[in-house]
Amino acid sequence: MDKPEAFKNLTYCKPISREFFGKHPIWLDGVIDFISTECRACKQIILEKDFETGYTYWQGYPVPYHKICKKLGMDNEAYECQVIDADCNDCAYFGSRKNLCKGIDEGHCLKFNKTVRAYPNFCTAHDCFVHRKDKA
Ligand SMILES: [Zn+2]
Repeated sequence: MDKPEAFKNLTYCKPISREFFGKHPIWLDGVIDFISTECRACKQIILEKDFETGYTYWQGYPVPYHKICKKLGMDNEAYECQVIDADCNDCAYFGSRKNLCKGIDEGHCLKFNKTVRAYPNFCTAHDCFVHRKDKA
């Protein structure tokens, strides 16, 4: 999809086509109220010249960003989602990572001194979780 088309689809409350969602048909009948003229990060109105398509962390559906807001906005969203997920994958105490099979890593928990498994993009909600960016 070219950029002006993406801009229109993401910022003018137009119906979203099945092609547009492609990989994520599950969202077609779901929540589509994210469509707006607002940047997902700063909540200010986006002009077409400043528009960039970003993607949500969990489902990867497209959302509007300002060009200058996209990197920080997506990084912040990733951090927030990873804290909610609270999986070993993003934990400060997860060490000696090695890949077990596609998407799943095994490693050593430096807090409890035991072998643990990490699941990217998965909500494990460990109480002991400390995000790797928050390690003192
Ligand atoms: Zn913005």
